[in-house]
Amino acid sequence: MAGSVSNGLAELGKRGLPEEAAAAAAEPLPEELEPEVAEGIREIVMGRNVHASCFAVKEPDADDEVTGEREATMAGVLARYRRCLIERTKHHLGYPYNLDFDYGALAQLQHFSINNLGDPFIESNYGVHSRQFEVGVLDWFARLWDLEKDEYWGYITNCGTEGNLHGILVGREVFPDGVLYASRESHYSVFKAARMYRMDCVKVETLVSGEIDCTDFGRKLFENKDKPAIINVNIGTTVKGAVDDLDLVIETLEKTGFQNRFYIHCDGALFGLMMPFVKLAPKVSFKKPIGSVSVSGHKFVGCPMPCGVQITRLKHINALASNVEYLASRDATIMGSRNGHAPIFLWYTLNRKGYRGFQKEVQKCLRNAHYLKDRLRNAGISAMLNELSSTVVFERPKDEEFVRRWQLACEGNISHVVVMPSVTINKLDSFLNELVEKRVTWYQEGICQSPCIAGDVGQHNCLCTMHKV
Ligand SMILES: *Cc1c(COP(=O)(O)O)cnc(C)c1O
Repeated sequence: MAGSVSNGLAELGKRGLPEEAAAAAAEPLPEELEPEVAEGIREIVMGRNVHASCFAVKEPDADDEVTGEREATMAGVLARYRRCLIERTKHHLGYPYNLDFDYGALAQLQHFSINNLGDPFIESNYGVHSRQFEVGVLDWFARLWDLEKDEYWGYITNCGTEGNLHGILVGREVFPDGVLYASRESHYSVFKAARMYRMDCVKVETLVSGEIDCTDFGRKLFENKDKPAIINVNIGTTVKGAVDDLDLVIETLEKTGFQNRFYIHCDGALFGLMMPFVKLAPKVSFKKPIGSVSVSGHKFVGCPMPCGVQITRLKHINALASNVEYLASRDATIMGSRNGHAPIFLWYTLNRKGYRGFQKEVQKCLRNAHYLKDRLRNAGISAMLNELSSTVVFERPKDEEFVRRWQLACEGNISHVVVMPSVTINKLDSFLNELVEKRVTWYQEGICQSPCIAGDVGQHNCLCTMHKV
């Protein structure tokens, strides 16, 4: 919970580094905190990478308590680690985490073991909980997605994945013989759910933008007409930030004869809380025939610990729940113990920013994303930015060290930056300047050319030698 108080970065954009942090950031990092620089591509070898740079647990010496040496060593490690976090936070662009926050007011709560085990709406016998905050946050989200207080059920999850695991499980309980449909660009947690629940799963093709291809969806529905359909709809795909066309998905289901034989889970981990604030964006709403929506709390919202929100219809939850005497509660969640601090962080942010605060931040993110895309293109770099999205997709930088330094997420020949509120124009400028400078050495005339990524982003977005006009 040490990271739960102000990290000092909220002030970065406005006033520069706090003095102490600036001094620390100026010094080179101690060796064990430098990101490992392996030769070429970092291999994923289970159980190797982390061990090379871990902080070992040392058994205390007999006289440590007298000399105080152990305390001093531990304090030293923590201080160096903190410096590393400040440095790594400054150079973070690839993952959709809003790292700009100040939760100093909540520091006083880290002395408590707050646990919301069981159902948010039924008090268990464990009294050190934060259900008051949890239900307040859930009410806010239910209202955002047009579901009445007495018609919804939900809970604060440990992450976006848990929301998907729950939504798909509810769908499976409503339609036990249902087939799961998800576009091939859906998050890996959706396919994990299919494996865990041993569900038949059909992967649907995508358009170049990354959206689900409803022509292919219709075809595949037709092939499994005898079984109900459980569909994962993406409100922002992980890699390209594409938003599936919910209305077209529903229309396709109805046209193929699936009336009342489908369950839709909306994976809004990424943009679930951005879309409602984008002008002209289609609405995610329970007025439409959807079953559940989930969103991550540590992405756009900016919680310092992984968490998420899951909302579904109350009538569905009875298909899932069972009573547990030991808890004096109902069991309808995926996990048992649940982080009771997370709802307080969410509550705090929602209160501070409110609807209008989020709207402003979304607008800023979209503006900065356009700025990044335009500057990449002007520098001759292939780039794509979907409408409704703040994820800028571009050619994968040639140098893995550069990728690691900016913590970019890559897939094949493409890479992306997800523009969150903590990604300022300043940060983008220093990234762009560095990238443009490095590219000169990567792609010297005649020696080697930048990759063609037309297959990923479409010909009109590709600026390789073959496609540039
Ligand atoms: C991040 C993400 C998830 C999973 O969220 P976690 O909180 O990392 O478990 C699911 N779906 C999409 C589209 C995401 O971007």
